[in-house]
Amino acid sequence: VDETVQYDMEKLQATFPSFRNQFRLIKRIGEGTFSTVYKAEDLQYERYDNSWDLDRDTEKWASPPLKRTRTVSGARRTGGDDEDSHHSIKSQRPRRRAKYVAIKKIYVTSSPLRILNELELLHDLRSSPSVCPLITAFRSTDQVVAVLPYFRHQDFREYYRHMKVADMAIYLRSLFEALAAVHKANILHRDIKPTNFLYDPSTGRGVLVDFGLAEREGSDSKPCLCHEVESVRKTRIRAAYVPNAAHNGYPKSDTRPARRANRAGTRGFRAPEVLFKCTEQTTKIDVWSVGVVLLTLLSRRFPFFNSADDVEAMIEIATIFGSRRMKVAGQLHGCMFETTIPTVGREGFSLEKIILWSNCRIDNGKTLKPLSDDEKLAVKFLGRCLDLDPSSRISAEEALQHEFLRVKPV
Ligand code: ADP
Ligand code: MG
Repeated sequence: VDETVQYDMEKLQATFPSFRNQFRLIKRIGEGTFSTVYKAEDLQYERYDNSWDLDRDTEKWASPPLKRTRTVSGARRTGGDDEDSHHSIKSQRPRRRAKYVAIKKIYVTSSPLRILNELELLHDLRSSPSVCPLITAFRSTDQVVAVLPYFRHQDFREYYRHMKVADMAIYLRSLFEALAAVHKANILHRDIKPTNFLYDPSTGRGVLVDFGLAEREGSDSKPCLCHEVESVRKTRIRAAYVPNAAHNGYPKSDTRPARRANRAGTRGFRAPEVLFKCTEQTTKIDVWSVGVVLLTLLSRRFPFFNSADDVEAMIEIATIFGSRRMKVAGQLHGCMFETTIPTVGREGFSLEKIILWSNCRIDNGKTLKPLSDDEKLAVKFLGRCLDLDPSSRISAEEALQHEFLRVKPV
């Protein structure tokens, strides 16, 4: 463990003096925009016989165990300090391996509301097996730490280049199962990307983490044109954009209020409607982000999109989809899309072509190795995730029924 990490771990223990009796910090496992995460051993694990491991049979997280009462040979007893009952519980169950936790130290610069939001949403989702649950949280003045069960996973960079199409389907199935549960609770994750989905290739299972940007659907939204029927949308756009020689294509007298839309998320994974500042964003924004993950897997390029800002991000998307479809996509939200950038063609390219190119399977316009049948199916599914129009884009629930993901892995 390097010195600064050691120093930080000691500082954390000094902030929470009771930590030493409860956790043994092992190492730093993550450093994100909003937090530092440590792996630790829960020293009271055996004592309370509590397991937050995912039970592979029931596919459920074990429930909070601290005050659980148990029936031991007919008598109701409380698992706790009573050494006798503790012993009898233990002897009935096989000894489990030591329990590890992830301790997420949230930066003090995060707003209290944001922290509360993350903890609340995690609490709401606690019964979902594919969302990493919250065991507990501590606060000391402005410092908040969340304690989560440690989920064994592999770094995306280690495996994304070697995945076969069947492996991609298993990965996506697990990710969409998680997402379907989150969306069913009317929650938008808003930051779907590989580092927030802890995946274990050896089991084909993953859990969703990082609800720091998540929100309840509709909590931060105002009506957007994209939710109107087409005729209403067209009339409103026509009224706003009166053609004028001097301001060609720009609103002559734009009386609309300045738009403020939630644009949180990670560059490169933001859905077009997020970039077009849609004020009525839905859970479909997460599906787009999964589409970008699949695009990464199929193209074997990570990160696939690499923009510095939202305008660049729009250009990157437009390069693939073409200016004509981008224009239509922008209009859904009352936005004009114009560009003179030469690399953005009118019609763009098919996803199939993008993937062949990325894998160097096209040379001088000649296809060296065409897509196999399962690759074609994956690309068809990809097109459903990367639909520029959120209303026709596939939902997480529908994705699980799609031919590409339908076969449940054994
Ligand atoms: P941030 O908001 O800073 O991005 P995350 O919740 O995404 O914080 O966690 C950052 C990283 O820490 C993750 O990408 C992952 O590598 C690691 N991590 C987070 N939670 C866990 C967990 N429960 N088990 C194992 N590793 C975790
Ligand atoms: Mg994260």
